[in-house]
Amino acid sequence: TTRAVAFVGLGNMGGPMAANLVAAGHVVNGFDLVPQALEQARDQGVRIAGSPAEAAADADVVITMLPGGAHVLDCYGGQDGLLAAAPAGALFVDCSTIDVADAHAAHAAVRATGRRALDAPVSGGVVGAVAGTLTFMVGADSEDFTAIEPVLTAMGRRVVHCGPPGAGQAAKICNNMILGATMIAVSEAFVLGEHLGLSHQALFDVASAASGQCWALTTNCPVPGPVPASPANHDYRPGFAGALMAKDLRLAANAIRAGGVSAELGLHAAEMYAAFAENGGADRDFSAVIHTIRDQHTD
Ligand code: NAD
Repeated sequence: TTRAVAFVGLGNMGGPMAANLVAAGHVVNGFDLVPQALEQARDQGVRIAGSPAEAAADADVVITMLPGGAHVLDCYGGQDGLLAAAPAGALFVDCSTIDVADAHAAHAAVRATGRRALDAPVSGGVVGAVAGTLTFMVGADSEDFTAIEPVLTAMGRRVVHCGPPGAGQAAKICNNMILGATMIAVSEAFVLGEHLGLSHQALFDVASAASGQCWALTTNCPVPGPVPASPANHDYRPGFAGALMAKDLRLAANAIRAGGVSAELGLHAAEMYAAFAENGGADRDFSAVIHTIRDQHTD
């Protein structure tokens, strides 16, 4: 069934996601603050609205794809906001990556109006958004998951029900905490290997077929050579930008502290990527963090 979808946040991710919804036959009313994003979306068949409220007026589904939790709550609230205008039965779906605490606040704001909400952050990057191959991590009640799954399938290849509202954001930051920490571990191993006279290829050949095997090594290898398609072979063009890894680990660190959880590696990784992003790594692939590690080597 085709749906009327309000789509707010037509940036690097939201733009192509909205285009894939249009291609699947849904009617999409889009809004963004940036005129250029609106122009591009219009070219893809998205109907352009003058405010979040206008986009949501006839919506069955309201999707947000925004930089952070404050932006989501902003777009939900106020006179021109999504909650003021959406029909009573509209389902609210936040696909942004935001603090778990903000996700709960957003859900509560929606529920207070008698509507239903779920979180569905994604992985797969801009390439996956364009190709329609994203993975959605969904925090939703069962009936809401069943209702939204066919809509998300138009934008992604895997749609995983992670648990109740909030569980999607939790899955996203936990996964990216593994990714961030393993990239540091792999990078440290290559730098230690250099120091010990071990070639990159030899370490790769051993670890990629042994217990050191992980995505950071075998797909996104931080040194050039062993995996020809990895960003290290292309001057560390992202890929997954350092700024986004720093952001996701900041969200993980917030949740770690809020919960009083002992997760020293995650907290340390968050600090390393924050420094990396501040010192020229923001627009480079996060695997370039190996340079930070190598530069700190002392004899
Ligand atoms: P982006 O900055 O390209 O897009 C965000 C858009 O939101 C911008 O066009 C901006 O103008 C718009 N916006 C901001 N405030 C607004 C408001 N109040 N009303 C309307 N529009 C508003 O960011 P992106 O790369 O598309 O990322 C979006 C979300 O997806 C983020 O939460 C990010 O962490 C997450 N994410 C990104 C990637 C990636 O590779 N880019 C991967 C996974 C998840």
